[in-house]
Amino acid sequence: MVYEERMRIILFGPPGVGKGTQANLLAEKFHIPQISTGDILREAVHKRTPLGLKAKSYMDQGALVPDQVIIEIIRETLASEKCADGFILDGFPRTVGQAEALDAILRDLHIKLDVVIDLAADENEIVRRLSNRLTCRQCGAVYNLATNTLPQDNKCPKCGGELYQRDDDKPEVVRNRLRVYHETTAPVRTYYAQQGILRSVDGMGTIADVQQRILNSLPGNRG
Ligand code: AMP
Repeated sequence: MVYEERMRIILFGPPGVGKGTQANLLAEKFHIPQISTGDILREAVHKRTPLGLKAKSYMDQGALVPDQVIIEIIRETLASEKCADGFILDGFPRTVGQAEALDAILRDLHIKLDVVIDLAADENEIVRRLSNRLTCRQCGAVYNLATNTLPQDNKCPKCGGELYQRDDDKPEVVRNRLRVYHETTAPVRTYYAQQGILRSVDGMGTIADVQQRILNSLPGNRG
C-alpha cells in the first residue's frame, strides 16, 4: 500500500534513549532516510561551515541551537528528492515552536506525519548509556562500550571511520541536556498527543526488543 510504503515517522524522546540507533534500523528496513539534526549539525561543526560555527557554542553547552536555524535545515531537507518517499526524523522537533513550524512545512508539501514514537527509559539508564557511548565521526553510527565488542584500533565496524566520545556526552553536559529536555522538549509530546499520533514505547531492554516494540506500534502494525 502506498500509505504504508511512505512512512513519515518522528522518533521522540530524551537524549540517550536510543532514537539514533532505532531510527537507523527503521531507515534500513523501510528504505527511507534518517534525518538526524544532531548528525547534520555535528558534520557542519566538523567541516567548520557557517552553520557549524553558529551551532558549536550551543552544542558544547548542551543547549538547543536556535529554532530558526534548525527549521531552515528541515525545510530544505524535507523538500528534497531524497525525502519524497518518506523519512524518519531523529532529534527534531525539540521545541513546540519547531513542531508548529514542521506542521506548516508539511502543509506546504501536502504531506502528513504517520506517527510520533515516544521512546522512554529510566534516567539512570540514560546516563549510563551516554557515558558509555562512542560515535563514528564518519557515518554517525553509535556503539556502547558496555555491550558492543569493538575493534582495538577504535575504527567503526560499519565504515572504518574514527570512533570518539562526543564532548556533549561528558557528565556535566549530559545533565544540562536532560534539563533542557524536561523543560523545553518534553511539552512537544503533549502537542502530538493532542493530534492523536503519539505512541509511547518502552525504550528499556535490548536493541532488538525495542525495535520490535516500535514495529508493533507503527500504523498498520508492521511487526
Ligand atoms: P543529538 O545528537 O540529537 O543529541 O543533538 C546534539 C545537539 O545538537 C543538541 O544537544 C543540540 O545542541 C543540537 N540539536 C540537535 N537537534 C536540535 C534541534 N532539533 N533543535 C535545537 N538543537 C538541536
